[in-house]
Amino acid sequence: MQTVILDQPGKFVVQDTAPPATPLPGQARVRVRRIGVCGTDLHAYQGKQPFFTYPRILGHELGVEVIQTGDGVSGVQKGDTCCVVPYLNCGACLPCRIGKPNCCTRLEVLGVHVDGGMREEILIPAEKLIVSRRLSFEQLALVETLSIGAHAVDRSGVQSGETVLVVGAGPIGLSVIQFAHLAGARIVLMEISPRRIDFCAARFPLEDVIRDPENAVNRLRGLLNGDLPMVVFDATGNAASMIRAFQLVSNGGRLIFVGITQQEISFQGPEFHRKELTVLSSRNARREDLERVMGDMETGDIDSRPWITDLAYPSEIDAVFPSWLDPNTGVVKAMVRMD
Ligand SMILES: [Zn+2]
Ligand SMILES: [Zn+2]
Repeated sequence: MQTVILDQPGKFVVQDTAPPATPLPGQARVRVRRIGVCGTDLHAYQGKQPFFTYPRILGHELGVEVIQTGDGVSGVQKGDTCCVVPYLNCGACLPCRIGKPNCCTRLEVLGVHVDGGMREEILIPAEKLIVSRRLSFEQLALVETLSIGAHAVDRSGVQSGETVLVVGAGPIGLSVIQFAHLAGARIVLMEISPRRIDFCAARFPLEDVIRDPENAVNRLRGLLNGDLPMVVFDATGNAASMIRAFQLVSNGGRLIFVGITQQEISFQGPEFHRKELTVLSSRNARREDLERVMGDMETGDIDSRPWITDLAYPSEIDAVFPSWLDPNTGVVKAMVRMD
C-alpha cells in the first residue's frame, strides 16, 4: 500500500509498505480517504515542530472507512465512514480521570508523536472513531480543525450578545469565529492579511475589522462606547500578539490563547490584577467537541464547502507542500486524497 513518509524536514517520500496486520481486540482497521493538513504538519515539514522526530508519517485529520474490526469492538462496523479522534490518551492520569483527555499528561497525537494516517490503511483504537452516515470524507477530515475552535469557544463560556475579539483569521482563528458566531456573539476581527480578512468577512458577520494592532485599544473603545471586549481569543501563535492581548480585554474579562508559541509570554502583574483577568489556554479538543462539529455539519449550521481550498494526491505532495506554507496563496484547508 502507498505510504507518505516525511523523511526529513522538507522531504516527503512515497513508499510501498505492507498493509497493517489483523486488528487486535479493540482495534479497527480503516481505509484512509482524506487527510487534512494543518499548521502542525507544516511546522514538521519546516523542521520547526518541537520534540518531533523523523522519519514520521503525518496525518491526524482523517476521513476514513472501516474495513475490519477486532474482537470486542462495538459501535463501529465494516463499511462505516468515520472521523478519527487523533488524541491517544492514557486513560489513567488525573486529567484523563476527570474528563480532560485532551490534556492527558502522556498524550500522544496521531501523526505527531506516533505515525499517523497519511497511508492507505491504518489500525486505530475503535473507541477513537466517530461514525457519520451523512458526511463526506472531506467533511470528516475537516472535523478536527473545527473542533479546535469549538473547544476554545466552549472553554471561554461566550454568551449570546457578548462582543468577542478574535485576533488572527488563519484556520484556527476561523474555527473560533465559526463557533463564536453560532454562540450568538458579536465578532470583531483583528488581522493584517487582506486575503484572510476578505475570506472571513465574506462568510461571517463582523462588527468591525481592526487592521492596525497598534491602535487596537482606541479602536475597540470607540466601537464599544468606551469599553473593551469581555472575551478575547488569540489565534496567532505570535508571542508579541499574545502579550499585547492582555491590554485588549475588559476588566473582569477572559483571555483565551488558542495558538501556541515557543516563546515566553509575559504580562504586567498590577494590570493583570487590576483587571481581574481570567487567562485560559485551549489545547486540542475532546470527543464531545468533535461530535458537536459533526452535528453542526450534518444540520447545515456549518457550511464546510468553502473551507477546503486545496486537494492533492500523494505523488504531488512533495511539489505542492511548500505552496501550502504560504498564506498569500489563500490556502485555508489543504487535503491529501488517498483514492
Ligand atoms: Zn490539525
Ligand atoms: Zn492521561
